[in-house]
Amino acid sequence: MTGPRLRDDLGDLEGYHSPQVDVAVRLNTNESPYPPPPEFFAAWTGEVSQASAHRYPDRAARALREALGGFLGQPPERIFCANGSNEVLQTLLLGYGGPGRTALVFEPSYVLHAHIARITGTGVLTAPRGPDFQLDPAVATTIVEETQPDVVFLTTPNNPTGMVEPRETVEALLERIAARKKPGLLVVDEAYAEFAPWSAMELVGEGVPLVVSRTYSKVWSMAAFRLGFCIAPASVVADLEKVVLPYHLSVPTQLAGAVALRFTGEMGARVASIKAERERVAAALAALDGVEAFPSGANFILFRTGNGQNTWEALLEAGVLVRNFARWPRLDDCLRVTIGRPEENDAFLATMKEVLSK
Ligand code: PMP
Repeated sequence: MTGPRLRDDLGDLEGYHSPQVDVAVRLNTNESPYPPPPEFFAAWTGEVSQASAHRYPDRAARALREALGGFLGQPPERIFCANGSNEVLQTLLLGYGGPGRTALVFEPSYVLHAHIARITGTGVLTAPRGPDFQLDPAVATTIVEETQPDVVFLTTPNNPTGMVEPRETVEALLERIAARKKPGLLVVDEAYAEFAPWSAMELVGEGVPLVVSRTYSKVWSMAAFRLGFCIAPASVVADLEKVVLPYHLSVPTQLAGAVALRFTGEMGARVASIKAERERVAAALAALDGVEAFPSGANFILFRTGNGQNTWEALLEAGVLVRNFARWPRLDDCLRVTIGRPEENDAFLATMKEVLSK
């Protein structure tokens, strides 16, 4: 008897590669190194215990969107929430991608954009970044013009390179998409926006073909909850609500998202300390012989060593897990380290010194 076969167009699909290994120092998935404050759990469990567990959640997540809107300075009609920003991206592609449509990605970037595009039957168009991973706005806009994608993904700060796109690049892409006959959408993935000097959120408006996606997984220390959102024109939010499964966002998740916003002071302090640690780690990495560290506006740093694969293995052997990109196209010999607690960063740097001296 033969089992079911994956769709023909997905035959060679690979799953998400990021080993979940239990080691002392885990710096491979860009989470926050700190759990939410204890007061968060007290407030959240208090609210969960009052919830009507026998009823479905509010489909529109109104309370969460109002709280988020207040925090972001955006009207709730421009906010769509989902189970992680990955679900936001998937919903966008279910709605605006699909068979006969295409999505453009500038690589190297977050692999899930192309991955989710394929799963939703959307054609994937790939454009390379420059040798230093920068995106030339003139080249990018020309590619958009020539290929006419339905959806354009831009990640800033970019993962895994850490680089922040200037406002002019986002504006140039936006203008080009808005000016053409065929409708299109620019999706700016800002999973790491809080660590960066600027955000494209301020460019979102009615009639502007721009969506900015964000997550609670990093700054808000809530990767385990799976909560993300996007800021988009109200018409796009209405489309996403038609496409997403009803009641997709559980009551505990909705409550957690609103309760977290009572702790903005704590979260701001964490962002400041992670940024300071990022600068310290970047300087220490740059001072190591044979290491090239790339500038980062996120909570991680991409770096290249003489032999990335060997370095990754030696770090793991010593109990330090970083993300291995050594054999990825355009990222040869590159590894990515998430900024952790100071003592974790010290352990990483000390191990790097040891590994490189061998
Ligand atoms: N976008 C980017 C660029 C990311 O790096 C990540 C997390 N790895 C995500 C989106 C997804 O985040 P989540 O689904 O946890 O919100």
